Amino acid sequence: MAIARCGTCGPPWSPKGGAYVGHHFSVGHPNAGVICGRLGGENSAGVWLKKNEEQAYQEGKRILQIHTQTAKVKLQ
Ligand SMILES: [Zn+2]
Repeated sequence: MAIARCGTCGPPWSPKGGAYVGHHFSVGHPNAGVICGRLGGENSAGVWLKKNEEQAYQEGKRILQIHTQTAKVKLQ
């Protein structure tokens, strides 16, 4: 599951195991409105990917599913 974190927070910790190995920015970063998903986070964020997601990225997949409490989006 992809997770958004800012540069201050760094890579997310996964309680179920499985390291986040890929780090990419959304289209339009840092003005894209992707905000760090950490509680209280308000900084622009990159997206961290697990191994299977990073592999899909390397194969050209660029659209990711974001689940609850992993990211916030700042609207215009
Ligand atoms: Zn953060």
